[in-house]
Amino acid sequence: MKIADRMTRLRGETAFEVLVRARALEAQGREIVHLEIGEPDFATPEHITAAAMAALQRGETHYSPSAGIPALREAIAEEVSRSRGIPVSPSQVVVTPGGKPIIFYSLLALAEPGDEVIYPDPGFPTYASMISFAGARPVPIALREANGFRLDVAELKSLITPRTRLLIINSPHNPTGGVLLPEDLAAIAELALEHDLAVLSDEIYSRIYYEGEHRSIASFPGLQERTVILDGFSKSYAMTGWRLGYGVMPRLLAAHVTLLMTNSNSCTASFTQWAGVEALHGPQTACDQMVTAFRERRDVLVAGLRQIPGLRCTLPQGAFYAFPNIQGTGLSSKAFADYVLEEAGVATLSGASFGAHGEGYIRLSYANTVDHLRLALDRIGAAVARLNR
Ligand code: PLP
Repeated sequence: MKIADRMTRLRGETAFEVLVRARALEAQGREIVHLEIGEPDFATPEHITAAAMAALQRGETHYSPSAGIPALREAIAEEVSRSRGIPVSPSQVVVTPGGKPIIFYSLLALAEPGDEVIYPDPGFPTYASMISFAGARPVPIALREANGFRLDVAELKSLITPRTRLLIINSPHNPTGGVLLPEDLAAIAELALEHDLAVLSDEIYSRIYYEGEHRSIASFPGLQERTVILDGFSKSYAMTGWRLGYGVMPRLLAAHVTLLMTNSNSCTASFTQWAGVEALHGPQTACDQMVTAFRERRDVLVAGLRQIPGLRCTLPQGAFYAFPNIQGTGLSSKAFADYVLEEAGVATLSGASFGAHGEGYIRLSYANTVDHLRLALDRIGAAVARLNR
């Protein structure tokens, strides 16, 4: 069987690879603290699970329209209108199995071979992988610690060429926990208008925000017409395994993305969509409690990391990741992540697996209990001390 050449352009995700290695160590009897996987450790709120079970029992087990059931598209349009302060009609919403397909579909629908797509580095690995897969050229923009992991607008401007077609932004950001400030978004919006760029705004962590409120680039004048907002239920409602997300985009693009859905998934699972309706219409207390817990964990983890000689850590402003600088240990990111997994039983991700500008850092997901975070800190601290002996 000959595999198509295009497959050489797709990349995997280190998080899933490290999880396999960590599980193999556990099978040998080791006790591992899991800080590698980016998913809330909370259960999906009960009223959401109950809505899915009720949907199953009343027979919501058939195909739905490719773009999603009307009730969910309406609920999403309402929610995004309210939270982003922009008018959204249900016809601009496409429901997908998780938020990730929106990256896939937006790139297939918008990027031609030879086009350039600018994306954050470090950043979610799927961006570069899918840009290449679509035949376009990935152009990384560095996010630097000294700048709070926000992109530098002057640098962004210098990367734009006549071939630049699309810009991907992600705030709050995976893997750094950094957020773009309103003035950053205003400057990026101006560049997008000036150079006629489309924007894929990955807002999957929009509800997990610690200081102030999330602002979408789509709320700047003229931007909604050129922006795809990616959001979903995985992170905000602890629903990673349900596979439920969505894109909000101009109507014309929504029609094309819907065609991609028809030709790939047909539709998102019907009873899962009813769970989404309940998530948006029902009480938001569980969601708020999760953010409160994440803030407490962030503070414990960052304070602890700052105590370890050779490490320093910027305070994340959103999402549930810390991205400490480990250069003071003298190890590369990968060597450090391997060392703490093997020697300390703590699973983390090398910053370099998020792009070249992630070298010198590791990513820790603090979607774990305070007790486990303290245990991980003790173990990492002891392992780093052994390095210096
Ligand atoms: N975008 C970013 C930045 C993410 O970190 C993730 C998940 O880790 C996704 C999108 C995809 O989310 P989903 O699980 O809903 O497909």
